Amino acid sequence: MKKAYICLDIGGTKVLGAVFDENLKIICKVKKKTKAEEGQEKIEERIISIVEELIAQSGISKENLAAIGAGAPGIINEDTGEIIYTPNIPWRNYNIRKVIENKFKVPFFIGNDVKMGVLGEWKYGAGKNMEDIVGIFVGTGIGGGVIINNKLYSGARHSGTEIGHMIINTEGPYCNCGQRGCLEAYASKIAITKDIKSQMNRGRKTILKDLMEENTLVIKSKTLKKAIDEKDELAIEVVDKAIYYLAAGAGSLINIFNPNMMIMGGGVFEALGDYMLPLLKEQIKKFSMPVVLEGTEIVQSKLNDDSILFGSLALINGKMN
Ligand SMILES: [Zn+2]
Repeated sequence: MKKAYICLDIGGTKVLGAVFDENLKIICKVKKKTKAEEGQEKIEERIISIVEELIAQSGISKENLAAIGAGAPGIINEDTGEIIYTPNIPWRNYNIRKVIENKFKVPFFIGNDVKMGVLGEWKYGAGKNMEDIVGIFVGTGIGGGVIINNKLYSGARHSGTEIGHMIINTEGPYCNCGQRGCLEAYASKIAITKDIKSQMNRGRKTILKDLMEENTLVIKSKTLKKAIDEKDELAIEVVDKAIYYLAAGAGSLINIFNPNMMIMGGGVFEALGDYMLPLLKEQIKKFSMPVVLEGTEIVQSKLNDDSILFGSLALINGKMN
């Protein structure tokens, strides 16, 4: 083997790592719990142990390892590798690059996880050969990223493109960020779960009553899919409402950026894309100017769970070439 790359998807609950060979194929994967509550040093040790395990399991030699890349939540300076702030992981103004580079003696690059997801889709997934892309990832929350002229847009302080916190209605429901009426407060899984629960409390009949566990804070995407497949009235109503607000957000972004492509991803679209995408395309017409919308292809992400891994690989590629 000539060259290999290790890429990491560092989340608040799990760290996923993969080895890519020189043909940019994944040859080995390892997943471990982050255990963020154990503190910065323990997380650091765990990340190092995952990289070591990936090297051992894949059989690559340390000389073949060309670089390590990663995506993590929060505000990250992609140029310096400094993590400015991370929710759910105790990292503040923390230079993880130094730690990893000192340990493994290869270049290390890191960026915001959702932005890396969009970068991955642009370089290796649904958005290949597209110059201007907007990506929206719908999961527990809503995140996104923007590619302008073949370059990931980051913002002056590396905290731009918080698409989930675009305010759709100033008098709307409260969001986790403290604001009211953010897109995330209407169309994320947290919002969908709240809507379902409040309707159930009003006595609405739904098969979700049997499918959801008693204290569910965030409904599983596959549970929602099951209810939609069974034509459950409440599930359809709540998901359709989320699609309506997503269309308002996505339509506005199309008006602003005039992208070649809009990519819809995240756990919700992975599970429910077949149902949601055609409806979203129809609804977007209400919110986007026809002349702008005409040039925008609206598609589903291709890399799904691996998008952050591929995005980290794209980050390595962009920085080393
Ligand atoms: Zn918000």
